[in-house]
Amino acid sequence: MHVIRKVRTPGNRMVRHLERGKVGNRLCANCKSQLGGVPVLIPSRLNTLSKTKKIVTRAYGSYLCGDCTKEKMNEKAFNL
Ligand SMILES: [Zn+2]
Repeated sequence: MHVIRKVRTPGNRMVRHLERGKVGNRLCANCKSQLGGVPVLIPSRLNTLSKTKKIVTRAYGSYLCGDCTKEKMNEKAFNL
């Protein structure tokens, strides 16, 4: 989220400064570790990228990390 701060200038004027909010890292939904292969950008910058640059093309890509994906796949395979 953006934050508007009031700042007093050297000329003794009050002006509003718009400060950009920080974007958090993309985290694995299971173990909360940082995901690789996905850019950390503000949403308006994300819109300029193509889909292949925003996601990991794999099952559970850009949702679960590699280790959790492996676990999930094993779980699915043995619970049939
Ligand atoms: Zn994980």
